[in-house]
Amino acid sequence: MTTRVLVVEDEPALARALAVTLRAKRYDVSIAHSGVGGLDAAATWHPDLVVLDLGLPDLDGLEVLRALRAWSAVPVVVLSARQTSDDKVEALDAGADDYVTKPFGMDELLARIRAAVRRRGPSDSPPVVRTAAFTVDLAARRVHTAAGDDVRLTPTEWHMLEILARNVGKVVGRRELLQELRGPHLDRETHYLRVYLAQLRRKLEPDPARPRHLITEAGMGYRLEP
Ligand code: CA
Repeated sequence: MTTRVLVVEDEPALARALAVTLRAKRYDVSIAHSGVGGLDAAATWHPDLVVLDLGLPDLDGLEVLRALRAWSAVPVVVLSARQTSDDKVEALDAGADDYVTKPFGMDELLARIRAAVRRRGPSDSPPVVRTAAFTVDLAARRVHTAAGDDVRLTPTEWHMLEILARNVGKVVGRRELLQELRGPHLDRETHYLRVYLAQLRRKLEPDPARPRHLITEAGMGYRLEP
């Protein structure tokens, strides 16, 4: 399976160089030249990793990162011309997985991308998870019912389902789920998870009041039962 890398970089020459280098390493690459364009591409193209320049023409890169983290746990490697360790700490606190200071060598960036993708999780998880009621295609990032109808999910719903599907049959703890989702309502943590799980059940369970696949493990977390 090809790894999709979204490059958010406004300098045309650098963006082009990154695309050429990454494509030569067999990554699937998409380029966005602005923060808004980057957020759009992240929501619609579903990259496996984002390379994010902090100095963008429309939004500050940190704003882009915070907006992305409201609904996505995709690994992010930040590029910055800023040199101080405060900037680095701020980027990591905002949810960056790694940080490369410009100017950088392509080999260093490639190594950090490989490491970030590796940390994302086990790559041997099943690409398709089937239950009696619905099928989750992790590679295609689609869900369809047993009757074959596509189910439309919001990015957060998809992300929650994706985490459960990657751990099919196992309990995923509430804390772990929240860390992955990094939702904007962390002050109401349990409520936040319950709301999204209820939405998923309404869309996927034949009888949402008596879920058979999206199971709550009282006091522990949630489990996708095939
Ligand atoms: Ca820039």
